[in-house]
Parts: sequence; structure tokens; C-alpha cells
Amino acid sequence: MVNEGVPDCITWKGDLNVVYTARSGYAWLLNNNMLDLHTDSWSWIWKLKVPQKLNFFLWLVCHSAIPTNVLRFQRHCAGSDICSRCGIASETVLHCLRDCNKARVIWLKLDLEDKKWFWEDVNVTHWIQNGVRALDRVFVTMAWWIWRARCSKSIVNQSMTTAEVLHSASLMHDNIQHCFGGTLGNGNQVKWVSWTPPLTDNVVLNVDGSALGNLGLAGYGGLIRDRDGK
Ligand SMILES: [Zn+2]
Repeated sequence: MVNEGVPDCITWKGDLNVVYTARSGYAWLLNNNMLDLHTDSWSWIWKLKVPQKLNFFLWLVCHSAIPTNVLRFQRHCAGSDICSRCGIASETVLHCLRDCNKARVIWLKLDLEDKKWFWEDVNVTHWIQNGVRALDRVFVTMAWWIWRARCSKSIVNQSMTTAEVLHSASLMHDNIQHCFGGTLGNGNQVKWVSWTPPLTDNVVLNVDGSALGNLGLAGYGGLIRDRDGK
């Protein structure tokens, strides 16, 4: 309904006061172009477009409810809270999924070495949210398979190599992309660009080439690597 006598004016829908501020603009951009990661609700986890077992896994992680040795020790289900993979630190959630050497070498394959936000965050939920924002489904599938590898070693004493974890995460990522499409939320798609090693003792030859224009100077090269990337 139009009120006669009230002049038209420009308003900003991103704030209840309808006045634009840099803060409300930033919040609006986050909510519209990326995932809606409100910390006062866990609904953002359940809205992520992934198989439900991954939603549930992230929910457990954010609630420090995955059965790490710290949790098992607190509940008198284990004789020690020490990480059974490295044996040098308490197995907290962040140690298990990020800081343990066994996990660290896997994340480093994603060129995260100098990313302070990734390595220095001590809040599990913030770490998960930032990982999801920055790496989309790559983050979720990597975290899932790092946990799977941990359980495989701790429960049935079967070790997975770094190559096997990466290969499994890559396959899961591609399957989810195929089935769910798009991204976790509404943001730009993050492509998996890491090298996938062979699972067997075979070697893989990767080649690439380029040319400076049609019939110009051209070059090509190749690299043969085994399952350990050597
Ligand atoms: Zn460890």
C-alpha cells in the first residue's frame, strides 16, 4: 500500500534499521554468497549438501563427541588419553583431525602450510566453519577420511597410507559432486586439484604442454610418480 505524502527513499534490507553499514554489508554478503553459518544454531550443519552421515559426523565433531582417546579416557573406556597413532600427545578432536602428524601430512597436500587460520584456531567449531567456507566439500571429505583412517588404525590396527586416505577422500568428493552437484552452500565451487596417487605398485605418468600461439614455440613435460609421490 502506498502512503500518500510519504516520499520515496532508499533503504537497506540487510539491517533491521534499514541503514547500510559496513558490518551489515559484510554479514549480508556472507549470508547470501556463502554458507549461512550462524553460530547460535546448528542448522548450518544439516543444510550442507552432503550425505547425511557427513552432516552427523560434523555435528559430532563440533560437539567434541567423536570418541577420541580424550573422550574415551574421560568416560573410563580407555587407560590413557594419548593418541595411539603418534603416541606423543593427548588425542583431542583437533589433534586427531588436524594436528597429529598422520593428519597433518594429509592436509599439507592441499597447500595449507602457511594458512594460520587453519593451523592456529583452537575452537573446533570455528575451525570446521572456516574449513567449510574455504575448501567446501574437499574439507568435509578429507576430515571424514582422516577420522576413518584413525579408527582403522586404532580399532582394527589396519593402517592406511597417506596415498590411500587421499585417494579415498578424492573418490568420495567426486561421487558427492556427481550426486549432489554445486557446492555445500551457495558459494563458488571449489575444485579438487590435488594429484591422485595410484593405489597399486604401478607408476603414473602425468603430462602437460603449452604453446605460444598456433605454430609458435611449444613445450611439454611429464612426471612419473609412484604411490608415495616419488
Ligand atoms: Zn597423534
